[in-house]
Amino acid sequence: MPKKLPDTDQVALVTGASRGIGKAIAIALARTNRFVYLNFCSNKEKAKETLKEIESLGGKAGLLQFDVTHKKDSEKAIKTIISEKGKIDILINNAGIRDDMLMVWMKKNNWQSVLDTNLTGFFNVTRLAVKNMLPKRFGRIINVSSTSGQMGQGGQVNYSASKAGLIGATKALSREIAKRNITVNAVAPGFIETEMIEGLPIEQIAKTIPAGRFGTPEEVAAAVVFLCSKDAGYITGQVIGINGGIV
Ligand code: NAP
Repeated sequence: MPKKLPDTDQVALVTGASRGIGKAIAIALARTNRFVYLNFCSNKEKAKETLKEIESLGGKAGLLQFDVTHKKDSEKAIKTIISEKGKIDILINNAGIRDDMLMVWMKKNNWQSVLDTNLTGFFNVTRLAVKNMLPKRFGRIINVSSTSGQMGQGGQVNYSASKAGLIGATKALSREIAKRNITVNAVAPGFIETEMIEGLPIEQIAKTIPAGRFGTPEEVAAAVVFLCSKDAGYITGQVIGINGGIV
């Protein structure tokens, strides 16, 4: 672990921290001396692995199981953080799913489950966190959107709508709370090597990416950690693409 850095003693929550991008963000935040709450939905074994990895690096973290689609459970989780740590400084809305198919075949449940997780999940988790950040006059909120939300992706009308919605919510909320020194930004990853992209024709897709390769979760985490820093205090309402040049 590095020596104590300027951003210390902060409390962070990363939703969907059991695997993939959320795991990399959680580890990167713990490496910079934040206490990190690791949210997961059902994969406790993977979440425990993230926790072990952080502890083996000398970092501090705790598990926090809840489903971001459940408003009551999400709000209870934020209350737990505040009762245990007295505050929440950093919120990373990363939990997300995809359920791809052409619009003509899409059923209401394929639409609703993706919107509920990727967009309503943001609302469920963020409202009480903002309430805690306001009087402290500090906060960092980063929403994990996607290039699909920026440019639209065929076969992902539900997913693209959810991620575009997240960009709108990011911009609107940033305006509401900028004066209180709380920044709200989105990152929009392109194709990142995680379980989410399993089954995609990687070599074929890589040819369409200017950088010629998929990104890594750690490359997304690096941008998120910067947005969490005090140095990024004048960046708000922005969407940072991490996509090898696709958009
Ligand atoms: P992943 O490997 O499939 O991991 C998804 C994570 O979200 C898991 O930790 C999962 O928890 C959690 N999760 C799912 N539904 C949840 C719910 N209802 N409540 C709480 N947690 C839930 O996905 P990823 O690739 O790391 O994606 C992370 C984020 O990046 C998503 O928002 C995704 O849309 C976005 N993104 C990914 C890519 C990419 O290429 N991979 C590109 C652009 C954007 P469990 O383990 O408990 O199921």
